[in-house]
Formats: sequence, structure tokens, C-alpha cells
Amino acid sequence: MAEYTPMIEQYLRVKEGAKDAFLFFRLGDFYEMFFEDALLASKELEITLTARAGGGDERIPMCGVPYHAAEGYIQRLIEKGYKVAICEQLDDPTTTKGMVRRDIVRVVTPGTVMDGKIISDKSNNYLVCVTENDGMMALAACDLTTGELYVTSVLSGAEWLRDEIGIYEPAEIIGDPALLELLRRDTPLLAKPVVYTPWEKRDEEMARRQFGEAAWVRLEKERGHNLALLISYLSETQRRSLGQLSQISPYEPGNYMILDPFTRRNLELTETVRERSKKGSLLWLLDHTETSMGARLLRRRIDKPLLQRAPIERRLEAVDFLYNQFIVREDLRLALKEIYDLERLVGRIAFGSANGRDLNALKLSLLQIPTLKEMCLSSGSATLREIGAAMDECAELREDIDRAIVEDAPVSVRDGGMIRSGYHARLDELREASTNGKRWIAELEAKERLATGIKSLKIGYNKIFGYYIEITRSNLASLPEGRYERKQTLANAERYVTPELKEKEALILEAQDKMTDLEYSLFTELRERISGEIPRLQSLAEKVAEIDVYQCLAAVSAEHRFVKPKLTDSYDMHIEGGRHPVVEAVLKDSAFIANGSHLSKAEGNILLITGPNMAGKSTYMRQVALICILAQIGCFVPAASAEVSLIDRIFTRIGAADDLIGGQSTFMVEMADIQVMTEKATARSLIIIDELGRGTSTSEGMAIAQAVIEYVHDTIACKALVSTHFHELAHLEQSLQGLRNYSMAVQESGDKVNFLRKLVPGAADSSYGIYCARLAGLPEGIIDRAYGLLQNIELAAAPGAVSLNYGVGYEGQAGAKENKSAYAEAAVTLAPSEQVVEREVVQLSIFGEE
Ligand code: ADP
Repeated sequence: MAEYTPMIEQYLRVKEGAKDAFLFFRLGDFYEMFFEDALLASKELEITLTARAGGGDERIPMCGVPYHAAEGYIQRLIEKGYKVAICEQLDDPTTTKGMVRRDIVRVVTPGTVMDGKIISDKSNNYLVCVTENDGMMALAACDLTTGELYVTSVLSGAEWLRDEIGIYEPAEIIGDPALLELLRRDTPLLAKPVVYTPWEKRDEEMARRQFGEAAWVRLEKERGHNLALLISYLSETQRRSLGQLSQISPYEPGNYMILDPFTRRNLELTETVRERSKKGSLLWLLDHTETSMGARLLRRRIDKPLLQRAPIERRLEAVDFLYNQFIVREDLRLALKEIYDLERLVGRIAFGSANGRDLNALKLSLLQIPTLKEMCLSSGSATLREIGAAMDECAELREDIDRAIVEDAPVSVRDGGMIRSGYHARLDELREASTNGKRWIAELEAKERLATGIKSLKIGYNKIFGYYIEITRSNLASLPEGRYERKQTLANAERYVTPELKEKEALILEAQDKMTDLEYSLFTELRERISGEIPRLQSLAEKVAEIDVYQCLAAVSAEHRFVKPKLTDSYDMHIEGGRHPVVEAVLKDSAFIANGSHLSKAEGNILLITGPNMAGKSTYMRQVALICILAQIGCFVPAASAEVSLIDRIFTRIGAADDLIGGQSTFMVEMADIQVMTEKATARSLIIIDELGRGTSTSEGMAIAQAVIEYVHDTIACKALVSTHFHELAHLEQSLQGLRNYSMAVQESGDKVNFLRKLVPGAADSSYGIYCARLAGLPEGIIDRAYGLLQNIELAAAPGAVSLNYGVGYEGQAGAKENKSAYAEAAVTLAPSEQVVEREVVQLSIFGEE
């Protein structure tokens, strides 16, 4: 076999270090890709595939992108979930004899990308690292763009890992191959695709250096173990200092309410179930932040409600003050509006990609801090005063930037024009020399015109030929011999140089080169100086974000007539006139009907809610959960009054149309969720089950529902809201002391049903399922037939037999997909209880097939 050329050999050597990435191999003005990379990249990027001889037996597939446009191509590949390794020329090819050295300078991955579309202002871009070690699981979540780094750990538990990852919604997960495999199989409901990178190398020395000995020794062993792995991955991919990752934020999972991915989704905390859009979610309703930092913090707070009263009270105190102080709130907003994304600016400064405009944005932001600080200090809120007192204005950084950088700095940092005059003596000298030179040239033009008598003579400049004297063809005859040396011929003009012009040109260009070099080094010097102050800026950014969240929550609370919740350490929860904040906000022509919730030892801790479809059951149950969450993130709540006990965990089992996840049936998903619930729920939890027991045959569904309710009542003893179609379960009120029947009231008039949306004590009489089927627009023929059948079934229902779930007509729409016709039949020809066992066998075999 023929040998490859040295260049291809070099390529193959570098490629060894980036097997799972596209290798962008710098050749002059292009990044080239070869072999498989070229085949795939040409497809993904829709660029032309060519081939070149490389010494091997066959021509080598190749494609490339111009270096100045590479950014866009890299981003496109990252968005598609690929990684890109950038290989640069390490020597200057113009001065190097032989082949220049080349090596990878950075590997861009979805979890480490610093800019582009994938980075949204209002959310984080996390790289999550998962490890397991000595029976402990640890998880670190790091956002390189903002410098945030959270780390936590628990006794090993896959459930926990899934919940935690659901919160971060990472772009990339690295770490323990076995854990990644587990996650890949049991993917949490992530909104965006995630890239898995198995990684086992660790570098503890580097981690120690990165975070400092003091922080390092305070870390639990398994967390340090995790961070050593994360740092090794970051250093191998980023290959530069990571000044923005200066602080570790360790946390105890036990300090936050646990919300599993299903619950977060069911409650539509940050996105809606159907469209998976922010619009229509709780976050959408709440997000009136003025800064991106505030928006991200608000999202983090919604993701992690608190469990301790003191920190919640601290937050509520600030919101309460601003709620009542419209003017202060507005003033804060005005100041916040002028503040740029400090966290991301800091990220770019540390990364070395910040330009003059970024530094100016930092300066303008810092300019707002004294006002903001003063407003906090003079406020009537202890929380705000505390934040104000801790705010470091970083005034000297602001002054440094102001002294150095011109107002309208250019985008590029390589072409000069960004440093103010008066900042640096040598730079001023060079500028002077260059301006003098240019003036001399302007004067030369006048002189030459006079000397030659050619009025149209002009002096110009271009990058290739430098300065020249241009004379139109018609005037060439008047040009004296000798002094003028021809440089370039155009269609109707000739360009010349003279010895003195050449001499001056050399001086000007030299001064200009020196100038841009000097400007660049003055700029990077300033950028590095600021880089040294990153922890101060980050801590300032945190405070700005916090103020922003308080003004936002206060504004929303005032606008939507929320009230301050009273937090108690007791078991009981009393909500008067509670509302679902989002449903209320989007209801256009009708008013939202408020409903109270009393879940207490005395008044019952389980509400069994019946009522027809569309009556408002699930809205009601969600509203209770949302009120708890709002209270525990430190926000006012949509109610007339609310006394809430702190909830440690919310479980929801809410049948949604898109219940079919990963090929599992609704019923199996429900059972799996309930299994987790029985294992994890405590007396301080809140359980919400919508349509318990659906998805299997009526009698079995009802049996399971009753057994589950009894378990919640007797063993877990937590607060629970359960809706069901099984009106027969109402009898449980007699046997379970903590259970109360409620229903969503409806008013019947003729064959019409009017939804009152009022929760009333006592069970509903029927489900009005067929009525709902009519509402949903089913043909009248079907509706009439269904009414007829219903009558027959009701007549046939012998005493003792299990009666039917009337909701089946309406449910059929969503349920038909998973209910094999066998079930439907079984439901209609209701079997006596002895046959239940047999049917169970049939079902198991059906599940087995799936
Ligand atoms: P169910 O769970 O009983 O089938 P939903 O909770 O889904 O009913 O409510 C159906 C619709 O009724 C909701 O989409 C909402 O528009 C409206 N709704 C629910 N609760 C209320 C309420 N308290 N006040 C006004 N409208 C409501």
C-alpha cells in the first residue's frame, strides 16, 4: 500500500485525539475535513464533497469551510448534537520551512459551546457530570457560559439521578459509562436532545488548582471525585484556563422540594405538555424579569422550591415590600433594564472571546450598580438592604474600562481603533506618527498636481500595492520621465510610486502595524485584569439577578391579585379562594371560579373528587400543587388567603393524551409511577392522582384505585387529591376517616349540562360522559346509540355486580389507542369477580408482547 503524504499523516495523528468529533483541520484559509468526516460533514452541512490525492491508493474524500465562516458551520454541527475539534496551525506558515505544526486547540461540544443559537438568553446550557463511587452518586452541573457550577450527591438511586437531570435539562451528560447507559435507557423527559459522552479520566490536581485548596478540602469525597472528572473533561476539550469556573456551589438535595420530570411536566412549570413551549407555563406567567440573569434565576427557583421556612420568609419579605411599593419597583426595573447579561459577559471575558463592545457593556452595566445599591439600602425591606450591603460596585473596573475603551468600539479586537487616546503614551506616539504620515501624503497629492500640472492626479491606497499615484491614461503624456516607477496598470489609468512615497509608506504601515499590535495587547491586558476579578463580578451578578426576581414576582403578584402565603410548620393546609394562575390568565371571556382547599387532620387529608369530564377537576388539583410551589419559591399565591404547610415532594399522576411513553401503556406507566410514590412519599408530601385506575378494566381499575387510596391513607398519611370516574369509591368516606368526597358541581337543564366549576362536598352522581362526547362533536347517531346502550346496561346491572364507568364514551377518544379491544369488551360484558384473575392473565400477556 502506498504511503500517505506527510500532511495526511499529520492529519491522522491529530484525528487520533478526536475520534468522536469532526476534525476541522486548518490548511491556510480553510478548515478541511477528510475521510469519513468529509463524507458526513458534506451531507450535514450541505457543502461540496471533493477528493484529493494524499499519497494513499485512492483519492481521499475532502470538504472544507473558509476559516472566517467556520463559526456558523461549527454551530450547525453542534446543534445537530455533534462535536467539533478545531485544529490550528501552530507556526506561521510564511516563516516556517517545511510543514507547520498543527494541533487541536479546542473541542466544541453541545455542553461546552460558548455562543450561537443553542445558547438561549433565558436559560442555561448545562453540561452534567454523573459519577458513582462507594455507594454514593454525585452530580455536577456546569454552565461554561455563565460560570455556574453546582454539585450534589446522595446515596445511590437511579430515581434521584433521573429527577435531578430532569431539572437541569443538560445539552450533554458525561461520566460513568454505566450510569450513562442507565440514563440512556430510561431517559428523563428532556425537551432537547442530549449527547452522552462516557468519560472516566480524572485530574484531581487540576481540580484542586481550579477551585483552590480551601474549597476543595470542604468537599465531600464523592463530589470531589466527580469534579475531578469534570475538570479533566473540560481541560481536555477547552484547552485554556476556565476562570469563570471559580466557585463551586454545593447543595444538599434534601433542602429542595423534589419534583420528578413527570410532575414538572404535568404541572407545566416551565413548558406546556402539548406544545412544549414556554408560553402557557407557570414560568411564562411569572417571567417579568428585566435581565437574562434574572430570568435564569427565576427558572432555577421554579425548578427548586425550598423546604425551609426561614429562607422562604426571607424571599417573601422582599416580594411583600415591593408588592406594596409600586414606585420603588418601577425604579428598580428602569435600572435593571440597563444591565446586560453580566454572567455571560464574564464567561466571555474568562474565555478570552470578549471584545471592546463586551467590555463597554460591562461598563454600562456597572454604571447602574450604585443606583441599584442605593435603592436597596434605602428600602424598607431587610432582604433588599442585606443584598444592597453586599453589593460590590466594582467601580475601579468600570473606570479602567472607561479610561481604556472608546465609546463605539469595533467588533474586531485585531484591527485597532478601540483604545482611547491618552490611555497609553507609546500608542499616542504611534498614532501621531501615522496621522502625520497621512497628512504628509495628503499634502503630497497637492504638490504632485502642481509639479505635473495634472489636475486629476490622485493618491490612493490598497492592501496589495500600498500607496500609489494614479494618473488617467489621457494625462500620461504630461508625466515627466524618471521619478515615477510604474506599479499597476488599470484599464484607463496607470499607478505609480516615487521613492519618497515608498519611504513614507513604510513608516506609516509600520506605525499602523505596531499600533494594532499594541492596541491588541493593551486590550488583552485589560481583559485579563478584569478576568482576575471574576468572582467579584459573579457575586454581583447573583445579587442583580436576585433583585430582578423579587421585583418580577412582586409585579406579577400585584398584577394577578396574589396574596402573601402564611407558611406553617403544622400539617394542615388551608387555602381560601384558590385559583389556577395560568388557566385564570388565559381565560378570555369567562371568569375563573375560585375554590378553597382544606387538607388537614381535622377536615380530612384526602379529597376524592368526582364529577364529569371538563368539570375542572384536574385544573383544581393542579392549582393546589402550583400554590404550594409558588409559596415555596417565595412568591405570593393566587388565592384569597393561604396557609400552607411545607411540602417535601409533589407526586402527580395525571393522565395526559400523550401518555404513551417509550411504548409503555398508560396503565403500566401509572403503576410504575405509583410504585415510586409508595416508596418515596412521606407524610409531608402532596399526591395528586387524576383518573386513578384508568387504562385497565373497570373492576380491576377500581380495585387498584381503592387499594392505592387506602395505602395513601393508612401508610403514607400525606395530603392527597384524587380524582376518579369510579363514583362507587365514594363509600370509602365511611371507612377512611381522613377521606372526604367532593365533586365539581354541574347544573342540569334538560339534556344540557352547565359546568359551575365549584367544588362542593359529596360525590357526583354520574360522569356525563356521553354528554361530553356530544360536546366533543361526535355524530348524533353515536350519541343516541350510547344513551340507549347505557340504559340497557344500567337495567342489566344486577345487585352486587360492579357498575360501569360512564365516562367511557368520552375517554374512548384518548383511551382507545392503548385499550386493546379485548379490554373494551371485557368492560362491557362485565364479568363477575371470579373471572378477574383470568382476565389479569390475558392482560399480562398483552403487556408481555409490548
Ligand atoms: P376535568 O379534569 O374535570 O376534565 P379540566 O380541569 O381539564 O376538567 O377543566 C376543563 C376546562 O375548564 C379547563 O380547560 C378550563 O378552561 C376550564 N376550567 C377549569 N376549572 C375552571 C375554573 N375553576 N373556573 C373557570 N374555568 C375553569
